[in-house]
Amino acid sequence: VDDEGQVTYKKRPTNEIMRAIQLGIQNSVGNEAQKPSRDLLTQDFGVCEIVDFPREGGKLTMAHTMSSFTFKTYAPLAFRHFRKLYNIDISQFLASICGEELEELSNPGASGSIFYRTADDNFIIKTVQHKEAKYLQRLLLQYYLTLTQNPRTLLPKFYGLYCYQCGSKNIRFVVMNNLLPSTIRLTEKYDLKGSTYKRQASNAERAKSSPTFKDLDFKALHETGLSLEADIYTSLIECISRDCLVLESFRIMDYSLLLGIYNLDQTLRERERQRPTSSVGAAATVGFAGGAPSTSGAGAATSASALTASAAAASASFDESDGNQQQQRRAGRGGSVEGLQRGWSLKKISVFNTPIESINAENTAPIDLHSDEMDITPVGGIPARNAKGERLFLYMGIIDILQNYRLFKKMEHAMKSIITDGDTVSVHNPRFYSERFQLYLKNDVFKKVESLDEPHMLGPN
Ligand code: ATP
Ligand code: CA
Ligand code: CA
Repeated sequence: VDDEGQVTYKKRPTNEIMRAIQLGIQNSVGNEAQKPSRDLLTQDFGVCEIVDFPREGGKLTMAHTMSSFTFKTYAPLAFRHFRKLYNIDISQFLASICGEELEELSNPGASGSIFYRTADDNFIIKTVQHKEAKYLQRLLLQYYLTLTQNPRTLLPKFYGLYCYQCGSKNIRFVVMNNLLPSTIRLTEKYDLKGSTYKRQASNAERAKSSPTFKDLDFKALHETGLSLEADIYTSLIECISRDCLVLESFRIMDYSLLLGIYNLDQTLRERERQRPTSSVGAAATVGFAGGAPSTSGAGAATSASALTASAAAASASFDESDGNQQQQRRAGRGGSVEGLQRGWSLKKISVFNTPIESINAENTAPIDLHSDEMDITPVGGIPARNAKGERLFLYMGIIDILQNYRLFKKMEHAMKSIITDGDTVSVHNPRFYSERFQLYLKNDVFKKVESLDEPHMLGPN
């Protein structure tokens, strides 16, 4: 915040950065759209397109009310290809990013990056350091190879790399997939690395309305981890292992698993409490309004058949009045929902943007959520249970992958290992980092159970 009370990043007002980003991307994507479609060539990965945006308007740009700036698009054709791979069409991409104001998120990280989320929940824009942007450029060809070999991945989906230049300031940023739905209130959110060193959310972070917790906080709240059904557990761990192999080969480290937990049963209880005149029985009936009759009755909250449900299928019953908006959201998050009806007949789809699709877990049992539960259950989460037996849907992905060991981590490790046990320091060599990360997720965070329906899974009560 500067002297005049304006929020700034690198001494530029953040709302001006936001508008410049929107103008720049609109122009850039428009230019790409005009170029004929063709196969990618190696040299496309090194291209940087530069456009000036003088305040008074230029040859190819409109007049605007901000300071004059220059906008750079890195590897435009390569990113166009990535977007196509994930079925993101140009008009949708433009509508998401330029159609409405972006929401600035508070960043729990130490890097000082700013984050924006698009109003339709589809994309995250993150400012990155110069060396991170350079690194992504170097990575791009390999990344392309990885995605085409294996589109089912929890790695970040990068949809664009840009630079906003104003005066002597350069602000670089990436556009990527948003992992956490904001249409629902997530119960908890974790940034997990498999380290214990300084892995606890600060008091300032805890005080936020939606804090990001860390490894030690997870241990305190979920000592025995989160239970997943065997098939899903196996798909997830395989996916993480494949992704880690790629990260290791790039000598990348210090990444995290971002994990959002949506606790369906807790949400239902909270709703119950907020409903002024309801009794338990009455509430169960309220849930049927407008929905198909259900045979599971008031006991549905713990009904065994609901446990293997996938949130993707549940979304089929979103409120009509909100239909258009939801339709768009669903399209953006994977475009998959049309194929996922109540009977769980999976249509073959070519995008893998929801968590459940990312890990290639298709073998999900028929859906049997209560209609009032469906209304509050978002798309594509991974079904799980906590130790209390509550039904959870998980949202996740690997984030912050632009740190290369060789470039700038050696120093940090040398310093930290003097003051603590080297093994628990979160910065170590990439091999060590990857192994520890995988072991942690496999053994401490996720637990394999035969079925989420087993009586002992329902917890102590
Ligand atoms: P540092 O380097 O200090 O760890 P950073 O500025 O590089 O921080 P990240 O680690 O990338 O930031 O992310 C910080 C937080 O932003 C995450 O913990 C998460 O809450 C949120 N976030 C990051 N990427 C995404 C994403 N793709 N979708 C949703 N939320 C995200
Ligand atoms: Ca991080
Ligand atoms: Ca970082």
